[in-house]
Amino acid sequence: MIEINEVSYSYANASALNNISLSISRGEAIVLMGPNGSGKSTLLKLLNGIISPDRGVYKFDNEEITHKKLQDAKFSKLFHQKIGFVFQNSETQLFCADIFDEIAFEPRQMGMSESEVETRVNDCLDLLGIQSFKHRSPYHLSGGEKRKVALACVLSLNPDVLVLDEPMNGLDPRTQRWLVEFLVQLNKAGKTIITSTHNIELVKEISSRAILFDENHTIAADRPTEELLDDVELLIRVNLVDKYYQKR
Ligand code: ADP
Ligand code: MG
Repeated sequence: MIEINEVSYSYANASALNNISLSISRGEAIVLMGPNGSGKSTLLKLLNGIISPDRGVYKFDNEEITHKKLQDAKFSKLFHQKIGFVFQNSETQLFCADIFDEIAFEPRQMGMSESEVETRVNDCLDLLGIQSFKHRSPYHLSGGEKRKVALACVLSLNPDVLVLDEPMNGLDPRTQRWLVEFLVQLNKAGKTIITSTHNIELVKEISSRAILFDENHTIAADRPTEELLDDVELLIRVNLVDKYYQKR
């Protein structure tokens, strides 16, 4: 479903992706791991069309995704219905005064009727167990609650692919556990899940395949998650863990 072929990307002067190739099939559960600044968030942004490759090709469902195509409103809408992005910082994702309107935003953008919008919003509130938030303001929620609202917003379009950037960050252990189980359920329901995370404890549960970035912004390994986690020498070499790291 996703094909990345020899893709490179730089910000002003900083290289962020260096000749990356990978493919992802429908229904996979994948984690991106790697030290800070290795390019995980940049790859996720590229997958979501927020940025486009400087070099190389990104294909989604056999169609090349380019900056030019994404500027076409119709194409962009269709693309964003297929792939949803949960940002690292939920605050930057939430901007309405009311949670109902927040979750309704994308469905309304897609031109759904107000009764369909209402059904979608209610389904998402139920799915995330946050019906009681419906008419609250996103600004007064805790970090975990905001993350749930951000997830509800993204799921409101029922995308095939869900991309999450460091979704465990800032969550308490119980909410992390909830999120792990939620992602596993979504994957079982057929969604493709791509998550970047630093949480080495939880990656086995949310993925069967792990892609490891190194400090040169290239892919150091692309392997079954369990196998990758067993290669402690490699994890130390790419600076994901330090030399005292103990496997559990
Ligand atoms: P990761 O998510 O793995 O921590 P990023 O994809 O955020 O890594 O960053 C990759 C590289 O690109 C880093 O060197 C980082 O400093 C740089 N970078 C990321 N975002 C920006 C930006 N908006 N402007 C300039 N440089 C950036
Ligand atoms: Mg990042």
